[in-house]
Amino acid sequence: MNPTPRAFTEEREQRDLQPWAAHSAQSAGRQRPEADTDSVRTAFQRDRDRIIHAKAFRRLKDKTQVFIAAEGDHYRTRLTHTLEVAQIARTLARALRLNEDLTEAIALAHDIGHTPFGHAGERVLDELVPGGFRHYEQSLRVCDMLERPGGLNLTQEVRDGIVSHTASGRPGTLEARVVHLADRIAYVNHDIDDALRAQIIQADELPKGPIRLLGNRHSQRIHHLVLAVISESEGQDKAAMRPEEAQALEELRQFLFQRVYFGSPPKVEEKKAEGILRQLYLHYRENPELLPAQSAPGEEGVRDYCAGMTDHFAISQYARFFLPRPWPPEE
Ligand code: MG
Repeated sequence: MNPTPRAFTEEREQRDLQPWAAHSAQSAGRQRPEADTDSVRTAFQRDRDRIIHAKAFRRLKDKTQVFIAAEGDHYRTRLTHTLEVAQIARTLARALRLNEDLTEAIALAHDIGHTPFGHAGERVLDELVPGGFRHYEQSLRVCDMLERPGGLNLTQEVRDGIVSHTASGRPGTLEARVVHLADRIAYVNHDIDDALRAQIIQADELPKGPIRLLGNRHSQRIHHLVLAVISESEGQDKAAMRPEEAQALEELRQFLFQRVYFGSPPKVEEKKAEGILRQLYLHYRENPELLPAQSAPGEEGVRDYCAGMTDHFAISQYARFFLPRPWPPEE
């Protein structure tokens, strides 16, 4: 009898992946036990598919990455950022013979709980929510509880990767570590690309040392950084970037903080975005009957609803509650 496609994949993982990779057949299991009769997909492949079909995933298309209400079709959104992270992370995982499906699932979910209006939105919720707000915790909450009744019931490996994707997190798998590296490679480079497009910076202003090392072009830099992770980690039980390139990437990141993330002209719009989300949060807190019926009680429900909004929906709700309507109403 031929093995099922799933058994075939699990065997191939056993044969081809490094011993320190996560093997789907040895997953630590789901949040809650569930009958597993899938003969086609491994546990991690199913997780990836559950994430792609989540409503919260689709909403990423209309959430700011860096530039709020950017005029122009070519700026990154939270969704295209996520796809770039997944692409880089999969390339790394395959090259290092780690589990590509687990890596992809973590990458696709890593920002699924992000607020509207990028980090401006996150700052406001962090200030208002009792106990603070961190998007990676919210990403796990979306997957565990908010997306469909009972949540997506993901594997422990994907859940761990989602909640530990930041610098301070200590992921349990190298696949999660790869997503963290890919996130940084992706956002530093695409934020440079978007800032050049917006003419906030000029190419000749980029720090000379890192550009000399990594390359002039976006694609060269990503390729160089990917190679720097592979050469540092290949054949070893680790996922890290060669120190020289890690330093160059950090210099570019610091440049972005100084020139783009804080104090640049479009950032003025962030103040307005903060005001919108703050007023909405306070309004729903005062009027919880306006929240969807299935919301968690108290401020948890307010937080979940506000964090889940797209930029567009937040602006439309603000207009509904706080802007006078024209009179007489249009047909
Ligand atoms: Mg990210």
